[in-house]
Amino acid sequence: MKFGGTSVGDATAMRQVARITRDAVAHWDEVVVVTSAMGRSPNPKDHVKVTDALLNAARAAAAGEDETYRRARRELSDKHHAAIDAGITSVDERRAIGDEIDKFLDGFEMLCASVRVLGEATPRAMDAIAGLGERMAARVLAGVIRSAGVMAESIDATEIIVTNTAHQNAAPLMDMTRERTRARLQPLLERRIVPVVTGYVGATLKGVPTTLGRGGSDFSASLVADALDATEVHNFSDVDGVLTTDPRIASDARTIDILSATEMSEMAFFGAQVLHPLTILPLVEKRIPLRVKNTFNPSHPGTLIVYGAARGGKPVKSVSAIADVAVITVTGRGMQGVAGIAGRTFTAVARTGTSVYMFSQASAEQNICLVVPKDSIERVKPELDREFAREIFSRDIDAVTVLDDAAIVTAVGSGIAETPGVSGRVFSALGDRGINIIAIAQGSSECGISLVVKGQSAQDAVRAVHSLIV
Ligand code: ADP
Ligand code: ASP
Ligand code: MG
Repeated sequence: MKFGGTSVGDATAMRQVARITRDAVAHWDEVVVVTSAMGRSPNPKDHVKVTDALLNAARAAAAGEDETYRRARRELSDKHHAAIDAGITSVDERRAIGDEIDKFLDGFEMLCASVRVLGEATPRAMDAIAGLGERMAARVLAGVIRSAGVMAESIDATEIIVTNTAHQNAAPLMDMTRERTRARLQPLLERRIVPVVTGYVGATLKGVPTTLGRGGSDFSASLVADALDATEVHNFSDVDGVLTTDPRIASDARTIDILSATEMSEMAFFGAQVLHPLTILPLVEKRIPLRVKNTFNPSHPGTLIVYGAARGGKPVKSVSAIADVAVITVTGRGMQGVAGIAGRTFTAVARTGTSVYMFSQASAEQNICLVVPKDSIERVKPELDREFAREIFSRDIDAVTVLDDAAIVTAVGSGIAETPGVSGRVFSALGDRGINIIAIAQGSSECGISLVVKGQSAQDAVRAVHSLIV
């Protein structure tokens, strides 16, 4: 069971997690909990999201400032100590865990002070700081679960999830991860102890802490599930499962009862924040079912992710958006019939380490258009200008142009490819609202259509497509 930031946002939420864990232990022989860092609390006076606070403090320190990290320390201390005081019954445990939190926060201040002196936060330093939230949360949550009468022990995933050195977006080394996860967790499970594992973090072979990318706790849970051959994964968040769209964009978003793994992956890749895009990947091979549930409404069945077709329902099941993307277009009549322009475009973009969300090529080969994250433009544009300097000089290519305020809106559903007229209805829904479509691509899995629109139209476009679902 994985619990996200809001699910562990304060003592009340953690006690709810403890109740869910107690019920699970009564049902299942072996239960593992994976936790995010403490997130937003339902209490309006406490909106601190721990990972955001840690990363902001590190960035401010790199910019030479010390007030932000000092304030963050006070806020983080208050948040964790409040959860300990209200969530853990034993006085001795309260003191011991409180001391551990203080040690982590001392470490946090020391790291930020060094970053400030250096005037730079290296990716390695960022990871040492970013992962502290989960490490603190796991200790507090394990204490709260023990207070509910369930045996539990916190585990730092630095001990079990082995990754490469790609800091801030590290990739797991699966064999080592499986081996270490089994070796560390199995003995606890045999003694009926619930391991409370930190999400988001891992460590390199040399033991240097890494993180799996923002929102990565979902992925951590899948990695642990794969290692232990789990029967099921339950991913708990603060909504009733996977919804037809982001409820903050359309308040009439509804729960989707059942989704195929392919549909879920497509949604997650194209911006549905509810699951990290890689969550499904470790589960596919062993076909481990995943349920997305609501911590605050645990009797709701939520969404079940299955392998194979998830029949029924409308052809379009959900719509999501990725904001802050840029469209780069390489245009020119001289491109017609010139072999290799597309290849050179991709190679040039790849040299900058940028991943391309989608691309399209006009049929007459007069332009190629790529959609990339907005913040990659300052690297990608000069690289393409360099690559095609000769063709631009000879006017075979007119220009490499950038539209830097765009969004990708994606409709997902396995029925899209096989039901005639669906794409037409999606386009009309946008046309009726006067939203211009800049580019179109059919998702690789053929269960989605992605449209590029101006950034300012993104939410309207999502609502327009959503009106076809509800
Ligand atoms: P957690 O901290 O539990 O991992 P996240 O904030 O990462 O939670 O993801 C849950 C949030 O994702 C929801 O509160 C919701 O606002 C947002 N969200 C966006 N798109 C969807 C969707 N299609 N279905 C459900 N939630 C969505
Ligand atoms: N705490 C991390 C983040 O905010 C990971 C997660 O919550 O999944 O990105
Ligand atoms: Mg999340």
